[in-house]
Amino acid sequence: MPSTRLANLIDGRLAPPQANRWLDVFEPATGEIFAQCPDADATDVAAAVDAAQRAAPGWAATPAEQRAGLLHRLADSIEARLDEFAVLESRDSGKPVKLARTVDIPRAVSNLRFFAAAATAWGSESHAMALGQPDQGAINYTLRQPLGVVGTISPWNLPLYLFTWKIAPALATGNAVVAKPSEVTPCTATLLGELAIEAGLPPGVLNIVHGRGPVVGQAIVEHPAVKAISFTGSTATGAQIAAAAATRFKKVSLELGGKNPAIVFADADLSDANLDTLVRSGFANQGEICLCGSRVLVQRSIYDHFRERYLARVRALRVGDPNDGASDLGALVSKPHRDKVLACLAQARADGGRVLCGGEAMTLPGRCANGWFVAPTVIEALPNEAVTNQQEIFGPVVTLIPFEDEAEALAIANGTGYGLAASLWTRDLSRAHRLASQLEFGIVWINCWMLRDLRTPFGGMKHSGLGREGGVEALRFFTEPKNVCIRY
Ligand code: NAD
Repeated sequence: MPSTRLANLIDGRLAPPQANRWLDVFEPATGEIFAQCPDADATDVAAAVDAAQRAAPGWAATPAEQRAGLLHRLADSIEARLDEFAVLESRDSGKPVKLARTVDIPRAVSNLRFFAAAATAWGSESHAMALGQPDQGAINYTLRQPLGVVGTISPWNLPLYLFTWKIAPALATGNAVVAKPSEVTPCTATLLGELAIEAGLPPGVLNIVHGRGPVVGQAIVEHPAVKAISFTGSTATGAQIAAAAATRFKKVSLELGGKNPAIVFADADLSDANLDTLVRSGFANQGEICLCGSRVLVQRSIYDHFRERYLARVRALRVGDPNDGASDLGALVSKPHRDKVLACLAQARADGGRVLCGGEAMTLPGRCANGWFVAPTVIEALPNEAVTNQQEIFGPVVTLIPFEDEAEALAIANGTGYGLAASLWTRDLSRAHRLASQLEFGIVWINCWMLRDLRTPFGGMKHSGLGREGGVEALRFFTEPKNVCIRY
């Protein structure tokens, strides 16, 4: 029997869904139900938006330092229960506990702290005008006012990490939030909601509504009082949200899918540490990170040698019980997602792809016998135009693609509808700079991957999204600029 029923957070109180409908929450490593999450609907969303509307003016009028203090308090209380959060995140998503403990949860804490500090340090612009006489002129200054009520919608792959990445700047800049975590991984956001009450966040400032995307997500997007939507998820859902928001003239920030290249030149420093990073860039979090480099482009002169060293490392990756500290990869997030990844592998084979390692589901012994595990997979001999190299698989699947020279590398790298992140491996900094300026990706890493400075703009080009998050970009998104002109 399911052990836990999660609740929505509405108006500072934990609340069951009004219609009393529930969704099962599965533990991917065992395939068993371990909780139930509200299957909320538009009525719950309306209650959350009402509460947010009541809270918004008071929260906007609260000094930024005081808002920041509450976010720091929330960060402290998550940090104090880091292990509990990490175990819960792992149980909900299938990722190794050690990854949740070292990446997901610490990053959630950093998101809250970073935006608490950023919003208090943020200045506004001012433009002085001369009007022809020494004593005549005008001064313009820009007010950055909170939007009021905003909606945030986040995915399952980095549940608390991305949930906080959105609510932190929204709250820090004085908005009231209606947040929807993924129904696939609702647990840590629920615990955060409980801690928000304890931390003393005023009722209605943060509301969390659980449920299905086309019901709860859509109700948030369509609600006339919600002024902006910050969304992270698939490109298909992003397109629906963009369409619904456009006719309502809502601000949207869309962080969508990717098909990211890692480009390895013959002159790259392929030290063990760099190779480890390249492998991590493909397989971290079971490949379920939008930034994963799923197409590894390798200069032909080093292709064979690189392939052998790379494969040796991939074969050494340990897929196992997420609770086991020795596991590098855990389970995929759900049975439908596992089946989708397996279907992608069948397609790769049918198109002539040569599977160099992995390529199949894995059955583990003991408590994980029914979990949704897939072996780390490397495929070669597929052209860049093949479906495998074009669609986002979002699993532990990497393709190797040889190239001759810079021009061909660039053409292959850019030859995708997506444009989120690229990594470039070379000792030649002139080439690195040249290519970085021509790569059609919002993020380019040179000789590194997923090195994140929260002040930098984050987001994608083409079908990978619209707008940028991070640093002042997020502060700008969640505020309305208003110019005030004073003549003297
Ligand atoms: P998804 O689009 O299925 O769901 C994301 C969220 O949107 C969930 O909370 C879901 O309930 C909600 N949703 C679904 N349909 C909706 C609708 N019609 N209206 C409003 N909300 C709706 O994505 P997912 O499968 O949860 O996540 C995986 C995807 O997220 C991948 O494509 C991945 O690349 C992408 N992603 C992108 C980034 C980035 O920063 N660019 C980061 C992480 C994940």
